Amino acid sequence: MMRIDVLTLFPKMFEGPMNESILGKAQEKDQLEINLSNFRDYSANKHHTVDDYPYGGGAGMLLKVQPIYDNLQAIKNATPHTKKRIVLLDPAGAPFNQKMAEDFSKEEHLIFICGHYEGYDERIRSLVTDEVSIGDYVLTGGELGAMVMIDATVRLLPEVLGNEQSAKTDSHSTGLLEHPQYTRPAVFNNMEVPEVLKNGNHKLIEQWQLKEALRRTWQRRPDMLEKIELTDEMKKLLEE
Ligand code: SAM
Repeated sequence: MMRIDVLTLFPKMFEGPMNESILGKAQEKDQLEINLSNFRDYSANKHHTVDDYPYGGGAGMLLKVQPIYDNLQAIKNATPHTKKRIVLLDPAGAPFNQKMAEDFSKEEHLIFICGHYEGYDERIRSLVTDEVSIGDYVLTGGELGAMVMIDATVRLLPEVLGNEQSAKTDSHSTGLLEHPQYTRPAVFNNMEVPEVLKNGNHKLIEQWQLKEALRRTWQRRPDMLEKIELTDEMKKLLEE
């Protein structure tokens, strides 16, 4: 079972999203355990403050190191034997992507730290193994980003998705965007399902899917093609 801890000032934000659909089912089936902790509970300050003014001045407040340190220590004491990956949510972190989700899905114990206000006392960075951003924009806090990473990671755990194959052919898993797909009816408002998908010839269907995945990637995300090693078949299809 994978264990995930989230350190947040707003645990309630996770209640709905973490308990519905695939994530909810993974917890029901004991494939996943998610623990939320509010690091305000670990503040040594009698008013339970977690933030303070930056040294040297500047706008906004920073998260103090002590509550987060003590919250992490409590988790470490409760789980002395797990191998931990401690992830700090930060716009200056490494960009999150499918490869990182795959790496995370192989871990035993993930810990996400959600920031707030203007960010962190720099010394918080020394407590973590990874600093990760979910994109080049600034959110109010790390909660939505942690949920994005948890969702992308958990669906890759073995047997969490009903059909394991569906994660393997997803956009970004193969290095290409996914090919177009159709379900019934065969014709809708004069828009037809391509003939090749209806004829049951699996070799031709696979060729069509690869060609369309290449076409879509080339049209929408040509940068992705530069990052994969094209097979001879792909090169031939691209030339057609
Ligand atoms: N002053 C900080 C900066 O310029 O990097 C931004 C702080 S932001 C308002 C508050 C918190 O939201 C961050 O500490 C981080 O935890 C989270 N956050 C905001 N944008 C994020 C992003 N793109 N990826 C991951 N976390 C983000």
